[in-house]
Amino acid sequence: MNRVAKKILAAVAAVVSLATLTGCGTSSAETSGPKITIGIKYDQPGVGYKEGDNYSGFDVDVARYVAKQLGYSEKQIVWKEAPSAQREALLQNGDVDFIIASYSITADRKKVVDFAGPYFVAGQDLLVRSDDTSIKSAKDLNGKNLCTVSGSTSAQVIKDNFAKSVQIMELSGYAECVTALISGTVDAVTTDDIILAGLAHAKGNGLLKVLGQPFTKETYGIGVKKGDTQLISKINAALKKMVDDGSWNKALDSATGGTGYTPNKEWNPPKNFDAENSDETVRQ
Ligand code: GLU
Repeated sequence: MNRVAKKILAAVAAVVSLATLTGCGTSSAETSGPKITIGIKYDQPGVGYKEGDNYSGFDVDVARYVAKQLGYSEKQIVWKEAPSAQREALLQNGDVDFIIASYSITADRKKVVDFAGPYFVAGQDLLVRSDDTSIKSAKDLNGKNLCTVSGSTSAQVIKDNFAKSVQIMELSGYAECVTALISGTVDAVTTDDIILAGLAHAKGNGLLKVLGQPFTKETYGIGVKKGDTQLISKINAALKKMVDDGSWNKALDSATGGTGYTPNKEWNPPKNFDAENSDETVRQ
């Protein structure tokens, strides 16, 4: 090879290595592999909670476990907030791969999305001020102001079954409901017991109590886009493994520890990881 050819070769090599370097620097996705986008709640301590860059709660731990079984490391997870009212749309639009966000399996929701699981069964309950002795059950809500979150199943249950003359205030998130309860704007907050226990513990300043008399069965599923049966069976296998190897118990204990919450032992952990055949949310 003559000197000119050598020089050309060296120049080409330099350009190639520069391009490779630049490529590495800009595309972090390439180095850390593909991503998986998971919808969770950001405002439910102990269930789905975001504090700075830290994500915690039982749903988040289930999400991490499932993602790992699907081949995704923690670094490959992209978390996305999935408020109650937006869950179906997020799945339908393909904005998330799946949703783990205290998402009850219901017949209406099953018309537009599919569910893996169930992975947990909660029950709807009430959160009230500790010094309020006037509300002992859902029936005492007539004439009272009740806070709930838009897009959740909770408000309608109260209206239909317990207190026709309750005043319902629908806010966008649970933190807002707790603020309204502490300030006296509302008299009670209703949603699932596991969520209320976490809120009372983390946000209640000792001023709030959960009644502890759940009146529905909330069967939590993992929402996926309608028809994605392959993903459903992979997630169900991961859930079964999570229960079998003890990780499910560990995650639930660490998420609910100190809150005074005891999950319903008869319903948990769910034994049948196939939402198609599971009980739907049953109103008692
Ligand atoms: N589990 C109920 C639901 O899916 C209430 C909790 C929530 O809004 O996430 O609607």
